[in-house]
Amino acid sequence: MLFTTWNEPPLFFAFFPANNSYPSILGDLLSSGLGVNGMLWATSPAATEVETHVMDWLVEMMGLPEAFRSTSTGGGVIQDTASSASLVALIAARERATGGRSNAAGVEGGRLVAYTSTQAHSSIEKDARIAGIGSDNLRAVEVDAAFAMRPERLAELIAADKAAGRVPFCVCATVGTTSADGVDPVAEIGKICREHGIWLHVDAAMAGTAALCPEFRWVTDGFEYADSYVFNPHKWMMTNFDCSAFFVRDRRSLISALSIVPEYLRNTASDAGTVIDYRDWQIPLGRRFRALKLWFVIRAYGVSGLQDVVRRHVALAREFASWVEADADFEVANRVPLSLVCFRHKGGDAVNQAILDGANASGRMYLTHTRIDDRLTLRLSIGNQRTQREHVEAAWATVREMAAKAAYSE
Ligand code: PLP
Repeated sequence: MLFTTWNEPPLFFAFFPANNSYPSILGDLLSSGLGVNGMLWATSPAATEVETHVMDWLVEMMGLPEAFRSTSTGGGVIQDTASSASLVALIAARERATGGRSNAAGVEGGRLVAYTSTQAHSSIEKDARIAGIGSDNLRAVEVDAAFAMRPERLAELIAADKAAGRVPFCVCATVGTTSADGVDPVAEIGKICREHGIWLHVDAAMAGTAALCPEFRWVTDGFEYADSYVFNPHKWMMTNFDCSAFFVRDRRSLISALSIVPEYLRNTASDAGTVIDYRDWQIPLGRRFRALKLWFVIRAYGVSGLQDVVRRHVALAREFASWVEADADFEVANRVPLSLVCFRHKGGDAVNQAILDGANASGRMYLTHTRIDDRLTLRLSIGNQRTQREHVEAAWATVREMAAKAAYSE
C-alpha cells in the first residue's frame, strides 16, 4: 500500500478522476521547496532539462510519434491543464494558417474556421473564444452511434466553408470523450487535414494514459497525422493536479506565435539559440517545476506499475458493464472502450435521477451523469488507484438498492 492516496476515496466514480500518489506529492513538495521559476532555461537549467527528459520518456513509454521528441522537429512541454494546452494548439494553428499575420494584425475578421465534434470537451469552445476565433466559427461535427466524429461530415463542412471563402485551419479530435468515451477516427480525420493543410490537434485528456499498455495503444492510432496532442497525467497517471502533457510535431509555429523577447529577458543562453525556453511554449511567463513530480511518479511506479493500474481499471469497468448487462432492468449506453461505463435504468429519467441522488446522498459513493439519446444516463468512471473489485461491487449494490427504492416509492 505504499502508494495509497487519500484525495479521492475508492468509491469516487464521478467525472474523470484526479489522481495522486506519494511519489507525486514528494515531487511537488520538493518543487515547492526549491522555489524554482523555470520561465527561461537560464532561470533554472535543471527544471528545463528534467522536463525535456521526462517528456521524451513519455514519447518512448507510449509509442508516440518520433516527431514529438525534443531531438526532432517538435517536442513536449508540461501545461497546467488540457484546456490551456488546446488553447496553445489553436494559437499555433492560427499562426501557421495566417503565416504569422494574426500575431500582428489580430484574427482575420471571422474567416478562420475550426472543427471539433459535438462530443468535444467544452474547453475547445472556450479556447476558440479566447483565441479570437469565436464560437460561431467552431463547427460541431456530428458523431456516429459510438460518439465518434463522422469524417465524411467533416469533409463536407470543410468543403462548404472553403467554397464560402473561409479558411479552415484547425481540427480538434478527441480520443475518449468526457460524456461517453467516444473515440474519433484520428487517422481518417488526419488524412482530411493533410489534404487541406489543416492543423490536427488531438485531445486525449483521460484516455491518453492507456497508451502505456500495448493492448490499449490503439488510443494513439492515427497520431502520425497529429500536429499537436495533449493528455493529462493528472487524470489517470497518478500525478497530482496540475500536469498536462502537450506535444507538438513542429515547434516553429508554436514558438513564433508565443515568443516575444523584451530586453529584460535576454540572456546569453537564449541568444545562442541552443536551449529551450519553455515560456515560449505556453501562455504564462513563469512556470513551476512540474516535471519533478512526473519524474518521481515514473521512477517510483515504473512503466509496469502504471500499466497495472490502467489494466485493473479497464478490467473492473468491463466487469461492471457485464453486471449491468445481465440485469434486465438496466442497460449499458456506451461501448466501454476503457474505464468509463455509461448506463441507465430502463425505467426512465425519473428513476435514474432518483438512483443518482440516492447513491450520492448515501455518502457511500459519488456518481455523475450525462445525457445520451436525450436520456439521463449514469456515468461510472473507474480511475482511482485505490479502487478495487469490492468497491465496484459495493457501487453496483448501492445502485440496485436505490433503484429498488425508486420503484417502491412510485
Ligand atoms: N478534454 C477532455 C476530453 C476532458 O475530459 C477534460 C476534463 O475532463 C478536459 C479536456 C479538460 O481538462 P483540464 O481540466 O485539464 O483542462
